[in-house]
Amino acid sequence: MKVFAIFGDPVSHSRSPLMHNCVFKHLNYKASYTRVHLKDGTKLRDTFLNLGLSGANITVPHKEAAYKACDEIRGFASTVGVVNTIINEDGKLIGYNTDADGFMYAIQEFKNVKKILIIGAGGTAKALASRFVQDNLEVNVINRSAGRLDYFKDLASSCFTWDDFDDSIKYDLVVNTTSAGLKDEELPAPVELINTILNNTSYVADAIYGKLTPFLKFAQAKDITYKDGADMLLGQGVLANELFVEKKLEKDDILKEMKKSFLL
Ligand code: NDP
Repeated sequence: MKVFAIFGDPVSHSRSPLMHNCVFKHLNYKASYTRVHLKDGTKLRDTFLNLGLSGANITVPHKEAAYKACDEIRGFASTVGVVNTIINEDGKLIGYNTDADGFMYAIQEFKNVKKILIIGAGGTAKALASRFVQDNLEVNVINRSAGRLDYFKDLASSCFTWDDFDDSIKYDLVVNTTSAGLKDEELPAPVELINTILNNTSYVADAIYGKLTPFLKFAQAKDITYKDGADMLLGQGVLANELFVEKKLEKDDILKEMKKSFLL
């Protein structure tokens, strides 16, 4: 029996166990997927190995720690230095990132998106910014603190903190990648700033799923087309599951099984 897990803090909200267990059951694949509440990211590697895991997903705030915990990094994760999926290959931890492709899957229905504002500058923001630039989309970033913006200096057309935001720029899409609203009722920036940002965009997305965040409620009140992080979660989950079960199902079939978990 293989065991997989999701590491995070918080982690109780995660739908990943339901999603992956649904696919394992459908495939008759001898595996189970559980949650690990991990407070200290530096303990990730030891915890993973002590639990004898075959693989894992990593969520907030440990994706950068997960990168450091791996023996080898493959694919897009090496571009961004952020890992959301780890596979145990004969005792070696191999790190991948499936978040960014999961997000591209999620926003397929948003048309003519060329200019994007990312709110937040953490692991998810890095992955999305790099992925957007690969697709020749213009990236702009705003974050609460200046320190984390350094990473984006060469990637983004502009980087702002709350204090120096240029409110004259219009965007096609604004994405909240902060954890504001995840376990509280906070907006990802002061209300006046969010109001201005939302007045200047066609579409809005939030990486948080399972609840209508204050940010999305604000967008809804302004009648802006929005989506929460559920499709992103499904997208990254499909790609992670392919790695877990070594491609035993077509992507669409994995998706079909995972969607069933949303009904549970
Ligand atoms: P990180 O911890 O790496 O980054 C968090 C970012 O949020 C930082 O830029 C931080 O700013 C900012 N932030 C945190 N709290 C606040 C606040 N109260 N107000 C404003 N800014 C804040 O997190 P991740 O990038 O790993 O994850 C971010 C979110 O995305 C989480 O909610 C996670 O659940 C969600 N997510 C969803 C996925 C999905 O599949 N739907 C996939 C990946 C992530 P500062 O630098 O100032 O501290």
